[in-house]
Parts: sequence; C-alpha cells; structure tokens
Amino acid sequence: MTPQRVAGFPFTFACRRSGNCCAIPGGFVRVTADEAQSIAAHLGLEPAVFARRYLRPDGERLVDGLGSRCVFLRDGAEAGCSIYPVRPAKCRTWPFWPEVLADPALRRLVERTCPGIEPLAQD
Ligand code: SF4
Repeated sequence: MTPQRVAGFPFTFACRRSGNCCAIPGGFVRVTADEAQSIAAHLGLEPAVFARRYLRPDGERLVDGLGSRCVFLRDGAEAGCSIYPVRPAKCRTWPFWPEVLADPALRRLVERTCPGIEPLAQD
C-alpha cells in the first residue's frame, strides 16, 4: 500500500491493521446524525434501536466495546472494522486530524499508537 500523505502533516500513513486507533484508552468515536443513520441502515437496524444499542446518551458518540475498544472493532490476525464501508469521517481521516497538528501531546499519542505512521525526514 502506498503511504498516504497530506500537506502540512509531518508524517505518512499506511494502515497496518493493528486496530490500535480503534482502542485508544479514554478515546471515543464521534458520529454525526447522518453517520448514525448510515451505520444503522448498514446493520439493518431502525435508527432508534441503533441509538439504544450503540450510542451513548449524548447521541453523538459510540458506546465502548470491551475495555476501551470501539464496539465495532473485529478481532482477528488483522484487526478490522465491522462497519468499514460506513465508518465515521473521524475514522476515515485518521491520523490526519487538524487537532493533531494543533496539539503536540495528541500528536505524540497518535504517533505512539499507530505503527502505520512514519515521520517524514526533516529538511
Ligand atoms: S468505527 Fe470502525 S474504524 Fe472507527 S473506531 Fe470503530 S472499529 Fe475503528
């Protein structure tokens, strides 16, 4: 897989299927109303049933699975997302989040978490 690069970010990314980004202690997965609706449809669930089963009371974040794992993280030799085609934008854009550039502590956490990140050589 060709590593992805996004202008302004000091690293490249090529997913190695570790699943680490889907199980960050203290992390959560934010979903918009449209995303929740798409995931519900993908699972064949009525939106209200989906919300009861998979959304936190604020309606904006997924519940956790085991420990700090995302409820949709699937086990295996290669970890995988069980709702991959309809995963939220936050997951699609990992690790190229604007807040990663703005927050050095978050950047360090992201770089430690993800084995698919390679720092770019400094000029
Ligand atoms: S929705 Fe899928 S990609 Fe996003 S954190 Fe959960 S398992 Fe990972």
